[in-house]
Amino acid sequence: MIDLHSHTNESDGTFSPEELIAEARRVGVRTLGITDHDTFAGHDQALALAREAGVELVTGIELSTKLHGHSVHLLGYFLNPDGLDEFRGWIVGLQAARRDRNVRLVARLRELGVAITLEEVEARGRGMTGRPHFAQILLEKGYVGSLQQAFDDYLDESAKGYVYRDEPQFADGVAKIRHAGGIASLAHPIRIASGSREDLAAMLPELCGAGLNAIEAYHSDHAPEDTLAYLELAGRYGLSVTGGSDFHGAAKPGIELGSGRGKNLRIPDDLMERLRGDAGAGTLRL
Ligand code: AMP
Ligand code: ZN
Ligand code: FE
Ligand code: FE
Repeated sequence: MIDLHSHTNESDGTFSPEELIAEARRVGVRTLGITDHDTFAGHDQALALAREAGVELVTGIELSTKLHGHSVHLLGYFLNPDGLDEFRGWIVGLQAARRDRNVRLVARLRELGVAITLEEVEARGRGMTGRPHFAQILLEKGYVGSLQQAFDDYLDESAKGYVYRDEPQFADGVAKIRHAGGIASLAHPIRIASGSREDLAAMLPELCGAGLNAIEAYHSDHAPEDTLAYLELAGRYGLSVTGGSDFHGAAKPGIELGSGRGKNLRIPDDLMERLRGDAGAGTLRL
C-alpha cells in the first residue's frame, strides 16, 4: 500500500515518528509520505527508522496557505533534501506566525470564558501547537462533547473563537515548494469551496497558473464519486494525482493509515510509477 499523507506528533498527530513507521509496517504501507504541518521534524526523525524497516519514505510537508482569504492546504513532495536550507529557513517564519496566532487564540478563548493557558496547550503541541490541540483541551475540560464540536463551536473559520493567522499566499507556497525541487499537490480538494466541484473547477485555471502540479484525488474524506470527479479534473487540467489517508492517530479517530475510513481509501499501486512517469514526461520535476 501507498499512503502519501500522514502526521506525527511533531505536528498534530498522536503517533511519534517511530510509532508511525511501526504502524506502516503493521498495516503494510510500503511507501509513506509524512506530511506534518509546516515542519520536517517528524520526517527527519523517521528517515533512518524507515530505512531500517524497509519503508520508502517520501519527503513531504503540508502548508496552510491563503487563497482569496480562505485557508487552502498544500502538500509538498519530493523536496530535494540537499537543497532544503532555504525552505527550512522559510518555514521557521510560518512556525512563528503559528505561535503568534496561538497567543491570540488563548486570549480569545479566555474572553469567551474558557479556562485555558498557553502553557497547557503548548505542553501538548510542543513546537507545532495547532487548533486540534486546543480542541483536545476543550473536550477534556468539558466545554464540548466532541473534537468536532470544538471546531464547530469555537475553532472553525466561521466559529466565535476563530482568530486570524498570517499564512503565505497559495501561489507563494507553490513557488517555495517548487523552488526546493518539490511538487505541489492540492490537499483534500473536497474542503475547497465547501465541496462544490463546479467552484473548484472554476478555480483550477488560477491554481494551475500558480504552478500547481497535482491534486490529492484519493483522501479519507472523499466518497468514491468524489475521487472519480477529481481524477477527471486532473485529466482535464493536466495535473498529476496524489493520495493519502491524512492519518493523525487518535487526533482523528476512525482513520487508518493506508486504508482510510472503514477501508474507503484505495490508492492504486501504480501511483508512484505514474508520478514518476509524469516527471519523465516533463510535466513534473522529481
Ligand atoms: P491549525 O493549523 O492550527 O490552524 O489547525 C488546522 C487543523 O485543524 C487542520 O489541519 C485540521 O486538522 C483541523 N481543522 C480545521 N478546521 C476544522 C474543522 N472545521 N473541523 C475539524 N477539524 C478542523
Ligand atoms: Zn493535521
Ligand atoms: Fe490538511
Ligand atoms: Fe493533513
